Amino acid sequence: MKYLCVEPGCSMNTTVNRRSRLVYMDHAATTPVRPEVVEEMLPCFTERFGNPSSVYALAREARVTLEKARRQVADAIGANPKEIYFTSGGTEADNWAIKGVAAANRKKGDHIITSAIEHHAVIHTCQSLEKQGYRVTYLPVDEFGRVDPASVEEAITDKTILVSVMTANNEIGTIQPVAEIAKVAHDHGVPFHTDAVQAIGAIPIDVDNMGIDLLSLSGHKFGGPKGTGALYIRDKTRIGTFMDGGAQERGRRAGTENVPGIVGLGKAIELAVAEMPEKSPRLAAMRDRLIKGILETIPETRLNGHPTERLPNNVNVAFRYVEGESILLMLDALGIAASTGSACTSASLEPSHVLVACGLPHEEAHGSLRLTLGSRNTEEDVDYVLEVLPRVIERLRRMSPLSPERYA
Ligand SMILES: *Cc1c(COP(=O)(O)O)cnc(C)c1O
Repeated sequence: MKYLCVEPGCSMNTTVNRRSRLVYMDHAATTPVRPEVVEEMLPCFTERFGNPSSVYALAREARVTLEKARRQVADAIGANPKEIYFTSGGTEADNWAIKGVAAANRKKGDHIITSAIEHHAVIHTCQSLEKQGYRVTYLPVDEFGRVDPASVEEAITDKTILVSVMTANNEIGTIQPVAEIAKVAHDHGVPFHTDAVQAIGAIPIDVDNMGIDLLSLSGHKFGGPKGTGALYIRDKTRIGTFMDGGAQERGRRAGTENVPGIVGLGKAIELAVAEMPEKSPRLAAMRDRLIKGILETIPETRLNGHPTERLPNNVNVAFRYVEGESILLMLDALGIAASTGSACTSASLEPSHVLVACGLPHEEAHGSLRLTLGSRNTEEDVDYVLEVLPRVIERLRRMSPLSPERYA
């Protein structure tokens, strides 16, 4: 395969034979399904295709595999299987948690507290509730993207019905003081929801120790299939049903279960949590080498997110004078898949709401680059990124009208 040449003498469109392998560093967007997971799923499409709601042996077998997956998910977060509800992913789990609690508590109150840096699955859900007359407080964060538990305390009123703050941020990797925030909510009798989509398999999660009443997770972020997820609902939490129809998921989320997907979700979460003690420190070492290498070799660069309270696989940096999407295009031409908080080619010209909430000026937020590691990444991948990235940024700065003279 041909890749863009970034050697100093090359012209813009010179290509070279560079590498045959893609360096995939966008695991916060999605992950490949693990072979062990595919293996568990395959029979559920063909021989073991029964509908778990039917009565004969084939169906009972499907019911058994479904309940095994429910236990795998429950065990991964310290929950009871009765408190796990399968969904079509993290987005659905977030929608259900927030809209469901809002609907069930309408008489009690109309106020929801969340943070300014939530995933759009939470932010847009809250905005949609605002249109229906609910009131939402979007808590600010500090420069590292952390929510202050004291700000939750200040925002709570006797009309507050839910506090929802994510466990770890998908863009900048910042880990929130979830247990402390949950405690504040509980001191006021308010349930606590957390979007833990990025945290599963990266940091330990225990719903009891952390005081979590509702938790969203998504299969494709930890080696499971897309279109699978779950909502943990603590026993006795007041929440409406999500989907009306049949009696599936204890009548709260109707529709024939996605048995192969759920089986894959169960296997993937079991593997992810079992491997975490080995994997997280390994990825964190690669993360730190990337961060250090980038900050040392590329001037006028800053680290986004928290320096230590950070997901083990997340690197997010901002380069002055360059535009994130042009970095991505050049990296793509070099066989590297990454992400940015800039969105110049998409419908909105607004940079990431997360980076803006952390106080980055718009120009700098537009020059952000996110690299998120996964188990298949190697030290060679890190070397390769550290080798080409300084040249990519230098070249872009030379072309950028925003650059000062010294980059010409
Ligand atoms: C990916 C993601 C979601 C959405 O999950 P889907 O399964 O893709 O719908 C929600 N929240 C966070 C933090 C995510 O990273």
